[in-house]
Amino acid sequence: MDEKVTLTDDEWRQRLTPEQYSVLRKSSTERPFTGQYVHVNDKGVYTCAGCGAELFTSDTKFDSGTGWPSFTEPATAASVDLREDRAHGMLRTEVTCKRCGSHLGHLFPDGPKDAGGMRYCINSLSLQLEPDEKPA
Ligand code: FE
Repeated sequence: MDEKVTLTDDEWRQRLTPEQYSVLRKSSTERPFTGQYVHVNDKGVYTCAGCGAELFTSDTKFDSGTGWPSFTEPATAASVDLREDRAHGMLRTEVTCKRCGSHLGHLFPDGPKDAGGMRYCINSLSLQLEPDEKPA
């Protein structure tokens, strides 16, 4: 596993756009159906917009109809951290990047049953798609 990324608040503000900073570092949620990856089906690896760690692969992405990019599982078990989130009067499971601690989204147990039944509901702003190389 890569080394942890630890930046100061000022460094995060410099590295990220204001919209990315709000989601990744302040745990806000982009409005549904506004993110750039909601309807993208390109093959590749989704990396962390904060630190570049590999988080999800296109093979596990599915159309949940919720308006956010949705995945059945992370790229590896070591890609993300999960923790209880009681904000906004709800009990949810927050998903963060294991490498840099940035907020990614939430995990819900209503994913496709034939793929494990989980739905990682992730903000497009937290992701950067690295497309697979096209065959020569
Ligand atoms: Fe990260």
